[in-house]
Amino acid sequence: MQLQVKTILNAIQHFPGFVYEDIRLERQRDGQPRHIEIVILPHASIPAKCSRCLQSAPGYDQLPPRTWLFVPLWGMVTWFVYAARRVKCPEHGVVVEHVPWSDGKRPVTLAMMGFLSRWARRLSWRETARAFGTSWECVYRSVEWFVVWGLAHRKLDGVQSIGVDEIHWGRSQGADRFLTVIYQIDGHCRRLLWVGKRRTEKTLQRGLAALGAEVVGGLRFVCSDMWRPYLNVIRERAGQALHVLDRFHITMHLNQAVDQVRRAESGRLRATASAQATRLKDMRWKLLRRGSRVRGAARAQLNALAASKLATARAWILKETFQPFWRYRSVTWAGYFLKVWTERALRSRLEPMQKVARMLRNHEALLLNWFRAKGGLSSGAVEGLNNKIRVVTRRSYGFRTYHAMEIALYHTLGRLPEPEESAHKFC
Ligand SMILES: [Zn+2]
Repeated sequence: MQLQVKTILNAIQHFPGFVYEDIRLERQRDGQPRHIEIVILPHASIPAKCSRCLQSAPGYDQLPPRTWLFVPLWGMVTWFVYAARRVKCPEHGVVVEHVPWSDGKRPVTLAMMGFLSRWARRLSWRETARAFGTSWECVYRSVEWFVVWGLAHRKLDGVQSIGVDEIHWGRSQGADRFLTVIYQIDGHCRRLLWVGKRRTEKTLQRGLAALGAEVVGGLRFVCSDMWRPYLNVIRERAGQALHVLDRFHITMHLNQAVDQVRRAESGRLRATASAQATRLKDMRWKLLRRGSRVRGAARAQLNALAASKLATARAWILKETFQPFWRYRSVTWAGYFLKVWTERALRSRLEPMQKVARMLRNHEALLLNWFRAKGGLSSGAVEGLNNKIRVVTRRSYGFRTYHAMEIALYHTLGRLPEPEESAHKFC
């Protein structure tokens, strides 16, 4: 049995210069297995290496044995036990030797950090910790190590299109509860490139600086919302790229306006105890979905509402009549449509709809860039990534800090390269 475990270990993770000496099963008082210890010794004829320059160096002394958490075997917590040597490097003096399964002072082996990180993509961090007999903190630190490695080794060449988006997380509305995120939205690669706290000009400047001048200078398309600080920074820093206001954000503004009209009207009707108040009740999601996607009984309700004289009905119809805008091919005709639609909205006497119309008029040029970019940009990319981010940030009630959530976002959406030392074979 012992021989077999050693054979397996040597086959999947052999460290030159070290040998698996002994494998011990530690038991509880009642005889139940408690954990496994894998004792490692230095190879008798291979000298230790300096941990700073990785050159062989003469031995100096030996430190007391310490443990590193290894991948669980048969569901049992497993430790590496090793007494590291110190070497006298001609260049770096007396330093601890290079220990290939470890990264600095971390108490967890690289293999285990990789193992936990990969599982943490499929399970929540809490579930991962529970499944493998370790702590939330240990999973967090492992994922963090994995992400830091991935960010340092990822390649950013070939980024042509980015989307700039804002995300709200947590419950409060404080400025720190908004995040600015930058996605790559090219057809061949969609991923999270950067995330930062707040949504100011400074935030986006930091984000673009993090991508580097070369990446920003090579951008062909930038997609964003009409948020003023973003518009300013994009104009200033990525002037060569075609800046497009994307469909997803504009639909969001239209939906918010319809919802504002509905809430205000609902309040007024309730005050007069009108029968129509009940009609507006529970209509929220039907009003906010794309009209063509509402079917059956919900459709009938929506039709009845549309036939009424309610302000909500007029707002909803305005929203729906904006949809054909996205189907134009010619910039000129799209521009004409926009003019007609906004005129109608401005005459509607619905303040939230008028507000959207004014906003669209003010950003007409950027809005029409959508048609100039036709074919170069995918309409669903920003929305898709935005939805995925929301899934992670919602889970974030379990994250204690912003930093932990940031790590989780890069981990799940960054498509980061993975360190080889954290062998795949264990997962
Ligand atoms: Zn050295």
